[in-house]
Parts: sequence; C-alpha cells; structure tokens
Amino acid sequence: MKHLAVIPGDGIGKEVIEVGMDILDAISEVSSFNYDAELFDIGSERYLRTGELLTKDDIYDLEKKDAIYFGAIGDPRIKPGVLEQGILLSMRSQFDQYINMRPVTSWHPFVPLKKHFDFDICFLRENTEDFYMGAGGTFRKGRNASVDVKRRLYNLKMELHPKPSSDDEFAFEIGLLSRKGVERFADQAFRTAIKRNETKITLVDKANVCTHIYGMQRTIFEEKSKEYGIGLEFMYVDAMAMAMIVRPNTFGTVAVPNLFGDILTDLGAQLQGGLGMGASGNINPEGVSMFEPIHGSAPDIAGQGKANPIAAILAAKMMLDHLGYEDMGALIQNAVRKCLDNGKYTADMGGKLNTKEAGAEIKKELLRIR
Ligand code: ATP
Repeated sequence: MKHLAVIPGDGIGKEVIEVGMDILDAISEVSSFNYDAELFDIGSERYLRTGELLTKDDIYDLEKKDAIYFGAIGDPRIKPGVLEQGILLSMRSQFDQYINMRPVTSWHPFVPLKKHFDFDICFLRENTEDFYMGAGGTFRKGRNASVDVKRRLYNLKMELHPKPSSDDEFAFEIGLLSRKGVERFADQAFRTAIKRNETKITLVDKANVCTHIYGMQRTIFEEKSKEYGIGLEFMYVDAMAMAMIVRPNTFGTVAVPNLFGDILTDLGAQLQGGLGMGASGNINPEGVSMFEPIHGSAPDIAGQGKANPIAAILAAKMMLDHLGYEDMGALIQNAVRKCLDNGKYTADMGGKLNTKEAGAEIKKELLRIR
C-alpha cells in the first residue's frame, strides 16, 4: 500500500489533478498498485484565508508519505513569488529534492520541428546548487556598501575595495558546486541511464568559461562514468541548445546544472508540444519526491474545462515509475500516445475535447490495451 499526498493547489491544478487521480484509480483496479491519498489544502485559498504557506504541520505530515502528487499554484491576487518561494521552493529544500527530472518525448505530430525525429530525452537538472544558492549581493550601492554584503564578501574571502564610492556600484552572484552535491547528482544520472538501458549520458556545462565549477563537475562525472561503466559525453550549453533542434534523437539521459537546466528544459517542453504535455519530478531518491505538471495554474482558462490533463497524467506516470510500477507507467504512456494518434485531445493541441473528456478517453484506452 502506497501513501500519497495530493496537493491540487490552484486554478487548473485542481482540474488536472482530479483527472490524474481518476487514472491512478484505474491503474489500481487493473494492477497490484494499491494506494491511499490524503488531500492537502495548500495553495492560494488557504494563504488568503490564514496567511499560511507551507506549515510545520504540513511538512510533518508530508514527510510520512511515499510521494507527493502536485497540481499547480498561482493566483493573480497574490504578488508573484510569494507562493512559489513559500510553497514550491520551500518544499524542494525541506525534502532536499535535489534532482528535477523532465522527460522530453516526441509525440508526433505535435513536435514543432521541420523534420520528424523520434526522441526520448530524460533531462536531469540539479536542483539545489550552481547559481541558485543566493550567494551574491550588491556592492557600492549608494555611499556605503551594505554591512550584509561586506560580511558575505568577507566570508567568501573576497577583498573589499578600500574606498567604496557611490557611482561605481556592482552586483555579483556566485555559482557554487560542492563535491558531495555533484557526486549525488552524477550517481542519479548514471543510475537513470542504466534503468533506461543506455550506454552513455550527456553532461551539459560551460566548462570553457566557468572552468572551476564545471571543471570539477567534469572530473567527478568522469570518475563516476568509470565506476558505473557507462559512457560520458560533454556538451557546451550553447551547442546543446542547437543540437536539441537539429538532432534531438541522439540524446538519452542528459545531466545539466541548475541554471542551464532551467532554460534547456523549457526548450524541451516546447519541443514536445507545449506546457500541456510536460511533466516533472522533484526527486530525492532517499526521501519524499514530488511529481507535477510543469505548467502553472493558468488563471485565464481555469474553471472552463479547457486544460489539457496530459501533463498531470504523465506526472502520475512518473510517480508510478518512481514507486517501482514501471509497467503501469508504460501503460499510461501508451494510452496517451494512442489518444494523441487518434485525435482525442484538448483545444490547446487543436482537439475538441474538454479536460474530463480527454482524461476519460485516456482511461478507456488504458483499460482496453492493458
Ligand atoms: P502561473 O502564474 O500559475 O504560473 P501562468 O498563466 O503564468 O500561471 P502557466 O499556467 O504555466 O502560466 O501557463 C501559461 C499559459 O499556457 C496559460 O495561460 C494557458 O493559456 C496555457 N496553458 C498552460 N497549461 C495549460 C494546459 N494544461 N492546458 C492548456 N493550456 C495551458
């Protein structure tokens, strides 16, 4: 019996998670996958009511679950960043979800490339380090550099200019990688490649410019490549952006540091047909992981039955894979593909179905082909 936490959140999050839960119900009917689901009221409504984002009680309860199934958060009444920082980012750091996994698959004919390629890329983005650690500050702003920045610079053993002046302000943001952080990231990348029966992985970086952090990262990945007996190729991020357009079929597992991963995975989302198709997992292999569609709450279409539920359904598929039910994950993937091939989808992809109808078609297909 698996214990799931379900956080539908806001806007279309609620609509697509309802459909995703329906698919999970169907899976539990036809397989040995058994689960219970506890619904968590986390999101904008509660925040507006009580001022609470992610509470200690939430964390305590979520920590006991096998996985978290998440919809979306976002509300035009709330300042951008409040919910993202207070809920999503807070959850990622509380549960140390250090890998962001995003599959990028060709769902012919929805791939916006001139030439058709069959591709199945698994992006693993490091989720905690690199340029996202807040190691930075603004310096010489106004007449006095702030005490906080002086302290941070001191801690980083950087030298303060002896005479800060007001007209030559600068700001800095430092990218940091730790050996431990890179090692656990590399372990996951090579294990993923083994699971996917691949013989090499791709590591994306900019080691010709950021020689220190990405140089160390290359060394560690080379060590791990030998340890796992899996090949390793290096790609500079600029070359990777081009290669994703002209030869996406040549990539399998792709490991990418945090900042470049943010950019490349959005490119990947468009390559596979847009926001309604992209799913992601925030993963801590030793702890609680969270699975979600990559889109937000989409207030413009919320409550109208227009949301494409496929991203949320594919997030459920990723959750099943993670929990060890890969055969059921594959069943969902095949049912989705069949419905796309047969024109059974929502308006964002040119179809005629509403959210519930699109979900019902996938469920019907799943029960038919199992
Ligand atoms: P948020 O602030 O919560 O991120 P947003 O509107 O800024 O919301 P998204 O929700 O990610 O950003 O989506 C941007 C647009 O893409 C939406 O306004 C909507 O029109 C479209 N969209 C996103 N997800 C879907 C979906 N599942 N089905 C159909 N259209 C979608």
